[in-house]
Amino acid sequence: MTAHALLGASSAHRWLVCPPSMRLEESLGLPDTGSSFAAEGTAAHAYAELELRYRLGEITKRSYAGRLKAHKATEWWGTEMEDCIGDYATQIVEMVEGLKGAGKSPSVELEQRVDYSEYVPEGFGTADVVILSEGELHVIDLKYGRGVPVSAEDNPQLRLYALGAALNYQIIYGFDTVRMTIIQPRLGSTSTDTISLEDLLEWAEGYVEPRARAAYEGRGEYCPDDKACRWCRAKATCRARADAALKTACEDFSLDALPDADAVNQETTPATLMTVGEVADLLPLLPKLEAWAKDVQEWALTQARDHDVHYEGYKLVEGRSNRKITNPQAAAEALQKIGCEPATYYKPPELRTITALEKVLGKPVFADVLGDLVVKPSGKPVLVPEGDKRPEINSTENAKADFAEME
Ligand code: SF4
Repeated sequence: MTAHALLGASSAHRWLVCPPSMRLEESLGLPDTGSSFAAEGTAAHAYAELELRYRLGEITKRSYAGRLKAHKATEWWGTEMEDCIGDYATQIVEMVEGLKGAGKSPSVELEQRVDYSEYVPEGFGTADVVILSEGELHVIDLKYGRGVPVSAEDNPQLRLYALGAALNYQIIYGFDTVRMTIIQPRLGSTSTDTISLEDLLEWAEGYVEPRARAAYEGRGEYCPDDKACRWCRAKATCRARADAALKTACEDFSLDALPDADAVNQETTPATLMTVGEVADLLPLLPKLEAWAKDVQEWALTQARDHDVHYEGYKLVEGRSNRKITNPQAAAEALQKIGCEPATYYKPPELRTITALEKVLGKPVFADVLGDLVVKPSGKPVLVPEGDKRPEINSTENAKADFAEME
């Protein structure tokens, strides 16, 4: 087994929808660069585990206090994390108490490795919380992001965790009911789905297993899907996605394609203009096109800037940038010295913009008094058509250095 499963639960939506994407991505050899959001999430999970171990009586107060210091020393620590993880832990403890109140004897496993390789080649993952009790399995996932609420309903990540836990503990607990919950404390969102063990196993066998085998072997159909493509490292150059996007862009809006010419009110909408209904049909397609176009543009820029790739008809130039005043305090003193009233150059809480100051003072006075305090930083490299007047940036090293300076 590898440390990171190719067919991990967190990417299950993608390999279930577009099985060959995982091997395609692997063939690109691109590193999966962790984001600062991921680092914050890891810190939140580590603190949540500590908090739960203490509240569930697994560690002493002394041990808890000692380990808490390490969490408080991280850059992510703050009231928000303390409150949100506190709420999350309270919900888990209430679930456990609820089961005890119902006469059950729940056992709680934290950061539990779950193995679902019976259905998914080399498939395993780590479930945040697994509550085991007579006849009932409950798997809980903490999501610390601030993005959109994620539903537990038909959620393949949660189902795979539950599958792994069920396979491991079924013999002891005889589960018939499986509950799966996603808690997103920063959004105040808790979502739960319930499924019978029988249905879960049927899903694993009939739906997951064939797709997982295809994904593992790099077979199957490429299926562009907003959510799947968004997290795919092949998204910028994937042929299937490009094809789907361009087919979407080629929707037929010609006069011949009007479904029912009589239905168009010629008095309010000439036939040569799109109808309200047609615009309504177009609206949901545009974000897909926008997302794809942005991914391709960003990819092309990165390739040209960092890897010297040349795209026929395009060149790399320095992008536009705004002038800025290097020392606002010195600028204010210089303006005061020539008798300017603060109200003319100051707009709380800062100096007026350079354009506004030029207007108030006139360009010659502005240049005379503040010229030495104004700089124009280099613009970020951009990829433009060859006909653009700006000179080409020839040296990749220069472009990279400029870019690094600006970041
Ligand atoms: S970009 Fe989309 S369609 Fe292409 S491989 Fe990735 S998930 Fe599949």
